[in-house]
Amino acid sequence: MKPEVELYDTTLRDGSQGEGINFSVIDKLRIAEKLDAFGIHYIEGGWPGSNPKDIEFFAEAKGRKFKNARLAAFGATRRKGISVENDPQVRLLLEAETPVITIVGKTWLLHVQKVLRASPDENLKMIGDTIHFLKEHGKFVIYDAEHSFDGYRDEPEYALDTWRAAEKAGADFVVLCDTNGGRLPGEVAQITSLARRRLNTHIGIHTHDDIGLGVANALAGLEAGATQVQGTINGYGERTGNCNLTSVIPNLALKLKKNCLPAASLRKLKELSQFVDEIANVRHNPRLPWVGSAAFSHKGGQHVNAVQKLARSYEHVDPASVGNARRVLISDLAGRSNIVIKANELGFKLNNDTPELKDILNRIKKLEHEGYEFEAAEGSLALLIRKILKHQEPPFKIEGYHVSIRRDLATSVCQASVKVQVDGVTEHTIAEGDGPVNALDQALRAALIKFYPCLKRVQLEDYKVRILDSTAGTGARTRVLIESTDGKEEWGTVGVHDNIIEASVQALSDSIEYALMRK
Ligand SMILES: [Zn+2]
Repeated sequence: MKPEVELYDTTLRDGSQGEGINFSVIDKLRIAEKLDAFGIHYIEGGWPGSNPKDIEFFAEAKGRKFKNARLAAFGATRRKGISVENDPQVRLLLEAETPVITIVGKTWLLHVQKVLRASPDENLKMIGDTIHFLKEHGKFVIYDAEHSFDGYRDEPEYALDTWRAAEKAGADFVVLCDTNGGRLPGEVAQITSLARRRLNTHIGIHTHDDIGLGVANALAGLEAGATQVQGTINGYGERTGNCNLTSVIPNLALKLKKNCLPAASLRKLKELSQFVDEIANVRHNPRLPWVGSAAFSHKGGQHVNAVQKLARSYEHVDPASVGNARRVLISDLAGRSNIVIKANELGFKLNNDTPELKDILNRIKKLEHEGYEFEAAEGSLALLIRKILKHQEPPFKIEGYHVSIRRDLATSVCQASVKVQVDGVTEHTIAEGDGPVNALDQALRAALIKFYPCLKRVQLEDYKVRILDSTAGTGARTRVLIESTDGKEEWGTVGVHDNIIEASVQALSDSIEYALMRK
């Protein structure tokens, strides 16, 4: 079924411009694959003209198959005073080889004259030329009309001219942007509905949350006839952030009853939100609407009592509809079905009646209480489930390790020795590295490659550390998330310990064990 509203995610571009958000190429690939599996229609991967990391992302993404999403590269209209063919930034967009290209251009005369310092007519040509050029290269072109609402308020006829220039050049969507995030839902609705009447092309909406109305403005635009909404997971983005898709999506599906996603996806919304936070190394905000851990928690005695009698009395929807759970009520039903879904995704045959399910749930609860998080550590989760389901011996045992760091004025050297046992044979290796974890990784790998040559392809890609109890100073617990790849797929593993090295060894060992389990 064709969706009534298309979802356009810009977490990897606009979202990554938020304070404290920094994605590696591997992070971006993992998020893109998660968004695709979830059912997002467009994934904006980055701006190839603005940084080499995004060029690398698109080069990697070329070899991947996306089931639901089309990948978009983002860029700007050609520069003034040069032809579009000679603009290197536009050329890089074609080199990204994505099916979709999104182009941002100026709507607001103030920007055209004072910032761009171009004539009003030159700006119209920059929009038209760029879109026309990309259409000639067979691209699906989305035109992001920057400052649509501010521009329209100042000079309505000129704003319309810019949108018409995009339409005339063949843009598949004209997306109205509240770039500064300061407009009100009434204005957004009025201007969107006018654009819809005056243009024939499809209209989209892109909003920011500077006055706390990012989601409200997006919904206002959609109710006024926009059929594409742009936003980010968890509302990441510049300043106070972009319109939050984890709020827009359930509002669209459950409140406005507009079809935008496969029904099963909505139940994975909370998981998606936590996954992206984990990859970004950001603490999950408990007060996030819909997906926060407090979104359906009941504390007040009266509320608890009423909710137990009739959930609807204090809940606007069933928390399970977005993969969340009511807290307070002693029922692990929601947790139970989430684990069953996840286990099946990981290739285990598990249902609500599997006798081991209770053990698996208890184990996960216990570990989560200790500080483990499994949303982005599917490798560790798979190993945990396998251990309980199949009672299998692990393929190797780390008998011991030693790490030393020597520093003098000129150099610092880290050395690790590891003793591992495979099928009764003990192997002892020593390796050096840039840091203690790198040295341990090298030593462990060197020992195990002798038994499992397939590990040659496995690489550690990213390493994230989170201090869990920051009041305890250096005595705090540490969580380590390691991301690994075998060149085809990525996976995450987790370790938690008072000692950062021990936490790292747990995550490293899980990473290798998971690679062996999948081979
Ligand atoms: Zn934006």
